Amino acid sequence: MKIIRSQNEIMSYCNELKLKTSFVPTMGSLHDGHIRLLEEGKKYGNYLISSLFINPLQFNNQEDLANYPKNYNEDIKIFEKYDVDLLYFPDEKEIINSNLKKINSGNQGKILEGKHRPGHFDGVLTIVNKFFEIIKPNYALFGIKDFQQLCLIYTKLSPLHSTTIIPVETIREPSGLALSSRNKLLNDDQKLTASKIYEGLKLLEKNIKEDPKINCISFLENFYKDYNSLEIEYISLENTSIFDENERFISKLLHNKNRVIMVAAKVGNIRLIDNILIS
Ligand code: AMP
Repeated sequence: MKIIRSQNEIMSYCNELKLKTSFVPTMGSLHDGHIRLLEEGKKYGNYLISSLFINPLQFNNQEDLANYPKNYNEDIKIFEKYDVDLLYFPDEKEIINSNLKKINSGNQGKILEGKHRPGHFDGVLTIVNKFFEIIKPNYALFGIKDFQQLCLIYTKLSPLHSTTIIPVETIREPSGLALSSRNKLLNDDQKLTASKIYEGLKLLEKNIKEDPKINCISFLENFYKDYNSLEIEYISLENTSIFDENERFISKLLHNKNRVIMVAAKVGNIRLIDNILIS
């Protein structure tokens, strides 16, 4: 695996590549969710590129940034094990001080997650756009777990680049808890509480099949209220078309699933998100 830290070097290296490239951006502390993205990436292009960068621009809370888990040495071993061909491990100062084109996530970046994390999506889009500019991947893979992020990258960035966006399903622990680098910050009790987020969503999914008119929000509010240490920030049922911009039809990207239920909750100080897609 080749590791490149400098922006000029990665730019000229990628320019010379005559292969179909797949790109998986990560913030490290790799888990099986990231690994699934790498495995999917292998199925698309014939040269797999990943990045390891904790993007400071996407943290609206400095404490969250300071606490974000860092396991660079372990991560590099995992990237190697999963046959990443090229790892971009940027020097933070170089990226942040470079001539960054700011990408505005617009109104779609101000709702739901964006409402609770002001500036978050502008920060995500600005860095992912930079990576797309210098790497020019043919394919880029993103998790459905970060649903709004996936949608915004698709609607705001794919018109600017010739990169095909590939969504990847959410990988979970046996308890149903969506894998997240932040799970490392939870103790066993907190993990059990956190697993209730998906338990509720899964139960709702089953109930929708029996009664399609069920009030999804009340159902979940009712389910979650039994768990005192689960502090719900929002439960939202949206039509995925709220993210359809630039004639990008999100439901096409998601196999015609056209509604999403999104939940954000805190367990202790740790903020978690999850969602399910429904037809
Ligand atoms: P992060 O390192 O948290 O920025 O995540 C890097 C990529 O992995 C993003 O596209 C995430 O959506 C994706 N991802 C994170 N958690 C999961 C998961 N549990 N299953 C699938 N993809 C995930």
